[in-house]
Amino acid sequence: MEISTTTSSAAVSDERLAEILANPGFGTHFTDHMFTVEWTPDAGWHDARIEPYGPLTLDPATAVLHYAQETFEGMKAYRHPDGSIWSFRPEENAARMVRSSHRLALPVLDVPDFVQAVDALVQVDQRWVPDTTAEGSGEKSLYLRPFMFASEAFLGVRPAQHVTFMVIASPAGSYFKGGVKPVSLWLTEEYTRAGRGGMGAAKTGGNYASSLVAQQEASGHGCDQVVFLDAQEGKYVEELGGMNMYFVYADGRMVTPETGTILEGITRASIIELAGKMGHQVEERKFSIDEWREGVASGDIIEIFACGTAAVVTPVGELKWDGGSVGTPEGGEGLWQKIRQQLVDVQFGRAEDTFGWMHRIV
Ligand SMILES: *Cc1c(COP(=O)(O)O)cnc(C)c1O
Repeated sequence: MEISTTTSSAAVSDERLAEILANPGFGTHFTDHMFTVEWTPDAGWHDARIEPYGPLTLDPATAVLHYAQETFEGMKAYRHPDGSIWSFRPEENAARMVRSSHRLALPVLDVPDFVQAVDALVQVDQRWVPDTTAEGSGEKSLYLRPFMFASEAFLGVRPAQHVTFMVIASPAGSYFKGGVKPVSLWLTEEYTRAGRGGMGAAKTGGNYASSLVAQQEASGHGCDQVVFLDAQEGKYVEELGGMNMYFVYADGRMVTPETGTILEGITRASIIELAGKMGHQVEERKFSIDEWREGVASGDIIEIFACGTAAVVTPVGELKWDGGSVGTPEGGEGLWQKIRQQLVDVQFGRAEDTFGWMHRIV
C-alpha cells in the first residue's frame, strides 16, 4: 500500500505534549495525525494517506449514521526502556477486523495493509508514545483505534459502495491509578448482547450501543459493570460489556466461556496460552450462572477476573442481581495479578517475549 503523508503545521508544542502525557486520561487527547484509506467496488482500496488530525465532513445521508455499518479495533503501542516502540499481536487485530467486516458486509482490508497503516501512523506520531521509564508512568501507552465505516451518502439498505478505513491514536494512562479494586458486577436478566447468528463476535459499534442501557441498569444498582447471559436460555455467562471472563478453581483449573456469541478477545486468547505454560488447565466451554453462584459459595472458585486490552486483567468482586448477590471469591493467591504482570512485562519489554507476540514499529 502506498501512503502519502501531509505533515501537520499545527502539531502541539513539546511543552503541551509533555503536559498531556503527564496525565493522559483515556480517549480525550488525540495525536497530530490520522490515517485514511478509501474503498469503492471499482477502485478497491485507494488514496491511502496520513494527514493532520481533524474533523470529517460527512453528508447527512452517510450510511453509517443510519444503519451502523461499522467495525473497529482497539490496540496499543508501547515504548520499551531502550526507546523502541512496539505493538502486541497486531495481526490478530487485523484478522479480527477481517472477520468483523465480513459479518457487517464491509470489504476486506488485508492483514498486511492494516498493520502497515497502524505502523505508519505511530511512526509519524511517535513522540506521542509515552516514556515508561519515568517514575509512576509504568503502564502508559498510545491507544490505537482503527475503524471502518459505510461512508457512502445513500439511504437505501444495502452494503455501502463507498467505505472508509481510518486509524486514530490517543495516549492512555495507567489503568489502575488509585490501586486495584475488584470490579463489582450487575447480572442483567432483561438485556442480552448477542443471539445465535447475531453479531456478538464482531467488534462493531452496535454491540456497544446495545450495552449502554444495561450498563445504566448496573450503575443504577451501584455496580461497576454489567454481565450478560446467553440470549437463548438466559443461563450461561457470556462476557462483560467490553471484557472477557475467567473463573479460577481451587485445583488450578481455569474456565472461560466458549466462543460463538462472545467477542474473541486477543487478551483472552493470550491468557489461554500463557496459563497453559504456567501449568494451568484452561477449559473453553459453556459456564452457567449457577456454577458461578455455587462455586463461589462452596469455595471451589477462588478467583474471577475479566480481561481486555484497556485493563489487561482486572479482578472481579461481588455479583448482584435482582433479589440476590454472591460475594467476592476467596482463597486465591492472586493468579490474576501474576498473569497480568507477565503480559504487561512482555508488552513493555521488561520480560522476554517467548511467544513472539511483539511487533516492532520504531
Ligand atoms: C474488544 C472487546 C473485548 C476484549 O478484546 P481484546 O482483544 O482482549 O481487547 C472483549 N469484549 C468485547 C465486547 C470487546 O469489544
